[in-house]
Amino acid sequence: MNFLTLIEGKREGQRLATEQIRAFIGEFTAGSIPDYQMAAFLMAVYFRGLDGAETSALTLAMRDSGDVLKFPKDRRPLVDKHSTGGIGDKVSLPLAPLLACLGFRVPMISGRGLGITGGTLDKLDAIPGFETRLPVEHIVRQVQEIGCVMCGQTERMVPADKKMYALRDASGTVPSIPLITASILSKKLAESLEALVLDVKFGTAAFMSTPGEARRLARAMVALGRACGVNTRAILTDMNTPLGRAAGNWLEVKESVACLEGRGPADLHELVVLFAAQLVLQTGRAKNLRAAQTTVRDCLASGAPRRKWEEMLAAQGANLEAYRQKLAGENTAPVCVDLKASRAGYVTRCDARIIGEVIRELGGGRLTRDAAIDHEVGVDQIAKPGERVKRQAVLARIHAATTAQAQAALEQIKAAFAISARPAKAQRLVAETIV
Ligand code: URA
Repeated sequence: MNFLTLIEGKREGQRLATEQIRAFIGEFTAGSIPDYQMAAFLMAVYFRGLDGAETSALTLAMRDSGDVLKFPKDRRPLVDKHSTGGIGDKVSLPLAPLLACLGFRVPMISGRGLGITGGTLDKLDAIPGFETRLPVEHIVRQVQEIGCVMCGQTERMVPADKKMYALRDASGTVPSIPLITASILSKKLAESLEALVLDVKFGTAAFMSTPGEARRLARAMVALGRACGVNTRAILTDMNTPLGRAAGNWLEVKESVACLEGRGPADLHELVVLFAAQLVLQTGRAKNLRAAQTTVRDCLASGAPRRKWEEMLAAQGANLEAYRQKLAGENTAPVCVDLKASRAGYVTRCDARIIGEVIRELGGGRLTRDAAIDHEVGVDQIAKPGERVKRQAVLARIHAATTAQAQAALEQIKAAFAISARPAKAQRLVAETIV
């Protein structure tokens, strides 16, 4: 094929046919289109965009560039959730076993964190022995047997996205709605889902900073998911403040377990219940959202999802004894220091971006794709906006590898918090559902 003609066509704003898109994705994956030409094409898309039909064709071609999970026919619908990412966003961890207990199959294929936002795989790597690199056969078998799996993409899944994402990262073409939606959904479609719910975050620590931008992305993703045959909805949620009271890989595992035991923070509980209920509703298993939420809350309170979580850990090789010991311990990082309130009053700001930057500086996040991370560091006991605090009350506890890092983090994290005599207007955690 003459890919140069296609690049020139897109540069001039022409529409590409489905067959042309399938052909060049196939050739690019096979290595017969050079990276410099694909980078030029991506830049043409960045400026000219893709219409709905072109975006669907690109997404499906990317999905089909590698292995697509194939599951036997089953009464249990295949479902998943995707989040655009944030600080302390650990919803997936309690959600997967909860959905399995609600009668779904959950092939949850997740990614690693980059920049300040955390990644589900990094959190799971904090569990002793837990294996997130699983072959396709294991993924399918585990989903059939216990209802859920949480793992990374295999080498053979959606290879076109892996190559294209690296080029986008290096060519300034990441922030393009058709390229973002195709990238995210091609990976989700490779799970052969029936229903998908998207958590599109907005705020200081989100990919999209304003609700308006998040809405645009959410609408595009919902339309694309539907066009590709998956029942898709999106919920816009606030990421100006971290979710829950803990951020950092192991600390988030601990908080997820607390959520499964009914003693987690209220905002985390609210989102876990909401996303599960949304999928119950989307798959026609409840009359309305309220009824779905009641079903989900009852399931969570039964304790079954907590047991399912450990069943999943065992199925993926976790050393349960070491994990339980780690869970029972107080702190796993060598040094802990507290940020204390300098005055009494109401917390009016707890900035997720600054807390994310602190965690990255502590070694809990990465600046480059392959950088090693420290799973034990992070911040917990985070005081949230609206809370009344006394002078010297703990606003956040820093978990660090060294005293020097802990002291540097203590200085840096002060800017995240503001305390005033009066409470600020409460921000809604859930802004809108896009159907
Ligand atoms: N996440 C992805 O997987 N792809 C994008 O393009 C952006 C976020």
